[in-house]
Order: sequence, then C-alpha cells, then structure tokens
Amino acid sequence: MRPYTRLARHQGNSSLFFALDVSILSTSSGIPIHVHAEGLRGTGKTTIMRSARQILPPITRVRGCLYNCHPDHPHCPVHKHMTPEEIRAIGTEKVTMPYLEITHSSKMGTAVGSIDLARLTNPARPEAALLPGAIPLAHRGIIFVDEINRLAETSPELADVLLGVMGTKPGYVKVEETGLVPVEIPVIASVWAASNPDEEPGPLEDIRRQLSDRFDLVVGMARPSQAEDVVRVLEEFSEEFDAYLPEISERAALFERDKRMGQVRFPDALTRLIAGMYVDFGFESLRAVEAIKLSSKASALLEGRDEVELEDIIRVAPMVLRHRVDPTTLNRVLEHLSSKRSSVAAGSTGQKGPNSDPHTSACNENRCEARGAEDNCSPMDRLVSRIRDKLRDMQGGRAGASRRPGMGSARGMGAGASSPGDIQLTAPPRIARPLTDLSLIELIKGEEEPLRI
Ligand SMILES: [Zn+2]
Repeated sequence: MRPYTRLARHQGNSSLFFALDVSILSTSSGIPIHVHAEGLRGTGKTTIMRSARQILPPITRVRGCLYNCHPDHPHCPVHKHMTPEEIRAIGTEKVTMPYLEITHSSKMGTAVGSIDLARLTNPARPEAALLPGAIPLAHRGIIFVDEINRLAETSPELADVLLGVMGTKPGYVKVEETGLVPVEIPVIASVWAASNPDEEPGPLEDIRRQLSDRFDLVVGMARPSQAEDVVRVLEEFSEEFDAYLPEISERAALFERDKRMGQVRFPDALTRLIAGMYVDFGFESLRAVEAIKLSSKASALLEGRDEVELEDIIRVAPMVLRHRVDPTTLNRVLEHLSSKRSSVAAGSTGQKGPNSDPHTSACNENRCEARGAEDNCSPMDRLVSRIRDKLRDMQGGRAGASRRPGMGSARGMGAGASSPGDIQLTAPPRIARPLTDLSLIELIKGEEEPLRI
C-alpha cells in the first residue's frame, strides 16, 4: 500500500486530491459531497480514491452501533427511541470514518441490506431482523464505486439505490425483503466514483444522466505530462509505508479539527455572482449552485479562512460544471469569473456582512411585495432571494439534521422516509426448524396444505 500523503501529485491528478479533501472535510461536518473521477486507465484515480481511506478522520458513535449512530441524534432502529440517558449508559466510541466499496457486481442484499439469516434460523429465538448492507454501514463516511458507468448499465437497480442516497442531503436507502416491513434508513455518506468514459459502456452521463448530475464535483484525470512527474510516480514504490504514518495521521487530524463548515461565511456579493451565472449561462438545476456554494466553503476552510473568496469559486467551478454544461459554456463561465476578480474583491471588502445592503436584505426577507409598486427589486434580486432561501433551507435541513438527523429531517428534505424505529420486528409465525427436520411433503408444499399423493 502506498502512503496517501506521498502519492505523486501533478497537473493531471491534483484536482482529485483537492476534491477528496473537500469531500472528507464536508462529510466530517455531516454534509456529503459526491465526487466522480473520470479518466483513462492508468491515471491513478482508483489508487488515489482507495488510498484516501488512510487519511479519514475518526467519528464518534454510540458504542457498538453498526449504523454509526451519532450519540446526540441516534437514527438506527435499535437506538432511535432511546433517551439521552440510555444512550449515555451505552457509551460512545471513536472509530475511523467508514469507507465501504460497492461494485457493479454487488448484490442488492450486500449493498442495501437483507434478512439476517443467522437470527432467522436461530432455534432458540428465531426472529426476522435486518442485516444492514454496505450503504447503511457507510453512514457518516464514504461509499466508493469503481466503474460506475458499468454499474449504471449492468445494475440499474443499484443505480436507483445510489440515486436515493445522493438525491437529498441526507439521503436514504430502502430495504425491502419478503417477510419484513420495508424499512427506510437515512444515510449521510459521500459517494466517490471512478469511471473511464472511453471504455464500454461509455460516459456515465450518456447512460444515466440523472445519476451523473447527482455528483457535486466531477474531476477529469490525466496522465503525467512531464518527465519529472513520471520519475516521482515511480519513486513512490520504494518508500516504506510505516515511515509515513505520522504525517498520515496528522492529515486525518486536520479534518477532525476543522468541523466548522456551518460557520464559514458566504458573502452576499458572491451569492449574487453565482445566481447571475445560473441565469446567464442557463444551468439546468439549482444543484450546480448549491454544489458551488458548499464546496467553496470547504475550500475556504482548507485554506484556513472562515469566509469564501472568489478564488474558491474559481477553483471549484470547473469541477461543479464539467458534467453540467458544454465545454464552450464552461470556458465562458470561467472567463466570466476571471473578469470578476477585481470587482468582487472591491465589493466584498466594502461590505460588513451579508445584510449590509439594506435593499438586498429586504429582499432576503421576502418583503419585496410590501415595498409597493415602485419596488426596486429586480428579477435578479428576486432570484438571488430564492436561491438564498433554497440554500438556507438546505443548511436549515442540515442544521435540523445535526440536532436530530434521523428520519424526521430526511422527511423534511423530501426523502419521504418512514421511521425504522416505528417498525416492529416480529418473529416468524412458527419456530424455525432446520430443513433436514422437515418431511418431504413439508419441503414441497409447506405445512398448511399437505400435498395429496
Ligand atoms: Zn444505532
């Protein structure tokens, strides 16, 4: 295994390192950022995404909880209805942020969950219980999907599951098994995916456009183009892994320290800037604007700042828009952003805060109508207001999630989830018996209707 901190960085892969940093930091704060790396075979995307597991920070969970229940707001069927005192009595533990992988050949049961056969066939106390799959187990962590384009083609049902996980923040996963009431479980997990668009079955956006759009950041990977970069790539094979453990754990500790995503300010001038981009360049959905805002906040935090700057937006915009607009539009957007470098800097330094412009502030609070027919609110102001509300709702949902991120907040985010804690897990009607104890007739027909022979 290669130490993550010593993987050679060059122009062709540096964006992926940055995107993963952004995603880990955000996941650590309870907000997933989904990352898709596209590139030819041999560009190292899978190596980087798997090695990033080394630098994942720890999370604190209810002791022994497979679902990684947050001690302050447990969500799993076992802990959801316990009182804070009962949770305290169980205690907490620190575990490394979960990292689970699903492949295009994964079974639905292993990815999502299935009936726990061991408990079902326990002669002493048979009961139908849920065995969580990789996705619910990855709660508060990372789900890695290699060759996601193949998964989208060969396992459309798994692609549907990912759509549920990535559709809202938090997402959800639904487990349906014969004999069990369907259970929906909230999942806050960042999906990292890799694909080679030049190999069969082609780019993800051509196979499952909806799934492609769910990725907040898409990174194009390229091979090293300079000879010295190739030399550095080759050098990493000679390194001893253990020697780098201190710097790896230092890296993980950085993510653990910085959980202040919610406190990073997004200046009003920049909200107006991205709102203008949404209108002028015809982005298909507000998801792009949300992704710019969220990832630029993580970018600022990584730089040690508590306020987003234009440079953060310039840095994340290519990754946010790569799969959402055509290349010509992307270039125009980037030129547009570059041209704002001087004006936005001047504008933002003059502001004291997001509400320093009284008119914008009034618009923010939806008082436009109250201002009368001569209202100065332009359509742009109203749009800015709508986008700000949407983003505030998103943060509100997350803030609600941080207080109690169980099913209630999932429902609030439109996931339509039901509460797993409300579902009674019941034993089968009869005591389970080993198959070898059954008569041939029972085996064929069951006990109710003996076969007439
Ligand atoms: Zn739990």
